[in-house]
Amino acid sequence: MKRIAIVGAGQAGLPLAFGLLDKGYEVTVLTNRSPQQIREGKVLSSQCMFDEALQIERDLGIDEWGEVCPPVQGIGFAVPHPDQPGAKAVDWSARLDKPALSVDQRLKMPVWLERFAERGGDLRIEDVGVDELEALTQSHDLVILAAGKGEVVKLFERDAARSPFDKPQRALALTYVHGLEPTPEYSRVSFNLMAGIGEYFVFPALTLSGPCDIMVFEGVPGGPLDMWRDVKTPQEHLAASKRFLETYLPWEGARAAKVELTDANGVLAGSFPPTIRKPVLTLPSGRMVLGLGDAVAVNDPITGQGSNNATKAAKVYLDAILEHGDQPYTRQWMEQTFERYWDYAQWVVRWTNSLLTPPPAHVVQALGAAQGSPTLAGLMANGFNHPPSYFPWWDDAAQTQQLIAQCQARDGAAA
Ligand SMILES: Cc1cc2nc3c(=O)[nH]c(=O)nc-3n(C[C@H](O)[C@H](O)[C@H](O)COP(=O)(O)OP(=O)(O)OC[C@H]3O[C@@H](n4cnc5c(N)ncnc54)[C@H](O)[C@@H]3O)c2cc1C
Repeated sequence: MKRIAIVGAGQAGLPLAFGLLDKGYEVTVLTNRSPQQIREGKVLSSQCMFDEALQIERDLGIDEWGEVCPPVQGIGFAVPHPDQPGAKAVDWSARLDKPALSVDQRLKMPVWLERFAERGGDLRIEDVGVDELEALTQSHDLVILAAGKGEVVKLFERDAARSPFDKPQRALALTYVHGLEPTPEYSRVSFNLMAGIGEYFVFPALTLSGPCDIMVFEGVPGGPLDMWRDVKTPQEHLAASKRFLETYLPWEGARAAKVELTDANGVLAGSFPPTIRKPVLTLPSGRMVLGLGDAVAVNDPITGQGSNNATKAAKVYLDAILEHGDQPYTRQWMEQTFERYWDYAQWVVRWTNSLLTPPPAHVVQALGAAQGSPTLAGLMANGFNHPPSYFPWWDDAAQTQQLIAQCQARDGAAA
């Protein structure tokens, strides 16, 4: 039976590890943080996952929080009015066909690590570098590096043709809170777009202390939401979050009037450039390592897709490994496996990157038209579950006009 090593125990590495274990492979997972260190560490993500990715977890039997995690039932979109302070120029929301869920990775990953060991996986807590990768390529038939944003992934060559940005496009921050006022009718990702300033979105989740809400701030560099450098303590981080909302998004500030941090580690601030890397790393010995997840395709979180992508990539790799049977894992097979994932991911990356620069007029028009068209709002909201569904119209003004007209006709027929 084949021996497979996976470096990195995150949303990409662990689902793949479970899928391979189920099929009788010998699987070693190496990761540089123990379950306790993860539980006691900082939040690293807002990890909102939509139904397609959740279904992969359900199929693998690793969805332990479906009943306890507060569901995200819709998507809301608002743009502040440029001339009327406190008013919205655009304001719509639509239900998701199936709920999304966000389970704090500090809760999820330690449980998954324990389950992995219980199911017979070989779990090793160690920091992996080139020497360890060399050793793994000798002891295992295939080595997969799924180390997220860890330094080690910089060994993969950046793919300049697929990476339009070489600098961070947003100053990112997370604030995990208790006490946020819920939205009326149904829960949702409340997404607010402030031209030239950035984005703010907030949604329900499950954290170590139970149900919570996660605030995500995306600040355009140099603008008023690029404000985290001088923040020194968790309480200052919370105060800065609330002050920003009161000033720029008063309707969100009102919902957040009574919020408190879930815990002192429920805050994060940082930035990174969205980057696609070449998927095969050739070690000094000439042996090869295949990249998976954020290690080779990391997106800005503006569209909340990274955990979804990581899970979908794990599924593509799992299927490719199972189909490959006993044949050797060649460079060609590794590149083809990544390209199979890229067939899907390129659309997610394209859509995500398009929102990091001022969007073209037809996209702005569609986002505005969704306010008067429940059909269009539903399409926009449910696209988060499968972003290729935004194409080709997202790139094409004429097709966008057609889509708006079709949606309005459907709204008329339904009325
Ligand atoms: C602010 C923010 C908000 C986000 N919000 C969302 C969202 O709402 N929805 C969504 O889908 N995605 C979101 N994401 C993205 C998502 O969290 C990531 O894309 C996803 O976790 C990637 O999974 P991964 O397994 O590739 O990497 P990770 O989850 O980062 O896992 C990497 C693993 O590798 C280990 N590791 C690192 N280096 C080494 C080493 N040298 N040796 C051994 N182990 C190592 C780490 O300890 C970790 O276990 C967000 C990200 C950020 C930054």
